[in-house]
Amino acid sequence: MARSRLSRSDLTGKVQTVRGLLGPAELGQTLMHEHVLWDLRTPEVRAKNDLGPELSFRNIFQMAYGETYSPRNMLFDDVAIAIDELQMMRDVGGQTVVELTCGGIRPDPKGLAQVSEGTSVNIVMGCGYYVEEYQDPKNKERSADDFAGEMAAQVLEGAWGTSVRSGIIGEIGTTTPWGALERTVLKGAILAQQETGASVNIHPGRHEDLPQEIAEFVAANGGDTSRTVISHIDRTIFDSERLLRLADTGVTVEFDLFGTEAAHYKLNTTIDMPNDAVRLQHLRTLIDAGHLDRIVISHDICQRTRLTNFGGHGYGHIFRNVVPMMRRRGFSEAEIQAILVDNPRRLLTFA
Ligand SMILES: [Zn+2]
Repeated sequence: MARSRLSRSDLTGKVQTVRGLLGPAELGQTLMHEHVLWDLRTPEVRAKNDLGPELSFRNIFQMAYGETYSPRNMLFDDVAIAIDELQMMRDVGGQTVVELTCGGIRPDPKGLAQVSEGTSVNIVMGCGYYVEEYQDPKNKERSADDFAGEMAAQVLEGAWGTSVRSGIIGEIGTTTPWGALERTVLKGAILAQQETGASVNIHPGRHEDLPQEIAEFVAANGGDTSRTVISHIDRTIFDSERLLRLADTGVTVEFDLFGTEAAHYKLNTTIDMPNDAVRLQHLRTLIDAGHLDRIVISHDICQRTRLTNFGGHGYGHIFRNVVPMMRRRGFSEAEIQAILVDNPRRLLTFA
């Protein structure tokens, strides 16, 4: 059966969730970067087909800390537990989740629709491709126009062989060093943004200067920096000068590892990962420089050990713990509202 294709004007001024279109006012408090169902095992680890031990009290700290690699921890596909997890977030005030599991890390549009139906949480699904390591090697033969056509169709028709449509493009993967395929995919994302009016979320490689390079690449290739979000700033940029220079480009900076409280970061052991309190100091630096409207936050949950059912902080952590910390540290209600409601609403409303 042929899927129907929306036109851009059907989307303008609206938000697109896995269950259809919404008015922007219906979004409420929004987490801008999460994974609800995912498979972040590398292709090499998947091929071995060994998940390793079950998670238990005896090993869960070691897996959460990251020093013990657990394939099982990197994979989550249980819709019933996902419903429970998002319901707990709903109970403490979260209403919308942006789910950025895209090409390479096993997106499950139908599963997300079930989770949304089971919880009444709005889920806005991403599209496009994650970093090269996870992509089909055949993608190297494809053009930016080809990727753009696929991403625009994921927004306008449906994604990954389903009729469930994406409401944002991303997370588009980049790596340090930033290679040709990932540049071509990002060019495709920019073209798809121009065609659909969607925002783009970009996962930057780990070098501290890559976010700036990406923001300048977006602008130079005709992308809209005011509708571009750079993820994972908390593991990438540590000084105010780089942070403010990045915000000056007009992109939204995303601190999306809230809940990760250990300084140890297995994916880059040369850095000291900030904790939530230090993340809030960076937000204050941005706000004091006039960039309140360029900040979003999230948890980027993508390990089982970060889910409440496995002893983690869960999707409710920001509402349950971080917002009270913001109040204690002098953030105004208007600032909290901008970060959790107004900025996500602007970014998720199609231009
Ligand atoms: Zn992510």
